[in-house]
Amino acid sequence: MVPLIYADNAATTRLDDDAFEAMKPYLLNEYGNPSQPYSFARPARDAIKKARQKIASLINATPDEVFFTSGGTESDNWAIKGSAFSDALYKATITSQIEHHAILNSCRTIERLGYPVTYVGASKSGVVTAQALEGLINTDTRLVSVMMANNEIGTIQPVRELCAIAHSNGAAFHTDAVQALGHIQVDVNDLGVDMLSASAHKFNGPKGIGFLYIRKGTRIEPYIDGGAQEAKMRAGTENVALIVGMAVALENNIKRIDENQKKLRELEDALINNLMSANLNLIVNGGCNRIPGNISLSFHNADGEMLLHRLDLMGISVSTGSACDGNNSQVSHVIKAIQVDKAYAKGTIRVSFGRYNTPQDAQTISAAIIKIFRT
Ligand code: PLP
Repeated sequence: MVPLIYADNAATTRLDDDAFEAMKPYLLNEYGNPSQPYSFARPARDAIKKARQKIASLINATPDEVFFTSGGTESDNWAIKGSAFSDALYKATITSQIEHHAILNSCRTIERLGYPVTYVGASKSGVVTAQALEGLINTDTRLVSVMMANNEIGTIQPVRELCAIAHSNGAAFHTDAVQALGHIQVDVNDLGVDMLSASAHKFNGPKGIGFLYIRKGTRIEPYIDGGAQEAKMRAGTENVALIVGMAVALENNIKRIDENQKKLRELEDALINNLMSANLNLIVNGGCNRIPGNISLSFHNADGEMLLHRLDLMGISVSTGSACDGNNSQVSHVIKAIQVDKAYAKGTIRVSFGRYNTPQDAQTISAAIIKIFRT
């Protein structure tokens, strides 16, 4: 069943129409294995080459710095584990307490294997500050990994500044840009990052495809052993159609990035203003510098799960800021890390608008939330 209103675009997005059309030939007729030398395989091979060039140019990288993966989770695993496994000295990794579980659980794994990890906190407005990182980093740090934008509260992190601190201590810098790419400008040279994770389904591309940008010269182990694909760094027959779809979707999103941002800010303002004018007792989390359209709201003495289900019954899809553990609603690690007041924390939902949402959607969602609290 398609919801009346889909407002969970930070979870996934609707596929771009052009991306779908561009993928079709590689699902149907051009099914040659790109590694084969005969002419039938050439269109598939060429398509991968073109997609890699396109993606590289969109983030200001070179094509040999773009490695296709199965998505954000794999890219994050590779960055954290591949960096650790390249290090015979077992130097430390620093990451933040508000990362996605793809980073946090990869860090738990390397910790189990003896690689030390430190978790830097975030401010109440969701920012990992330069000061906080400076308090933890030293010349025994190998890698710093801080996300570009948080998935639960949308906060954009000062990546350029954090990266400079890492470099001045001799550490490499990785950023999980899964929520950022296609939504705000990303230029790997301007930021200075050594590695960057991306996932196509967060920018209207297909699911199950992403990439890891690895700056030339970065120390990292290959992730999947096997054939010679992805410069022998990530083996396995390439998913040609998804790679092609990802490049088209990214290009289309970046082309209209200013227009999208303006539209999403308007939807966000409308939603927040309506809720505030109704005098609901709520907090908007994540400070002012957030990914457009990603809105984390914590309501006083409420239950985020209950809100989600009541909105679902009204045909509206949003998510909670809390992870569900069996029957117990839990406050998420991000909401805890930014110290949202206990009286609000459990009543957190995330509304995330995307490019297919309309001003009417913002009106309908705010009216629905107001109705829930008034009845
Ligand atoms: N990193 C962040 C910040 C995310 O928001 C997500 C997905 O929600 C991921 C990583 C994982 O990406 P994927 O769904 O492509 O595995």
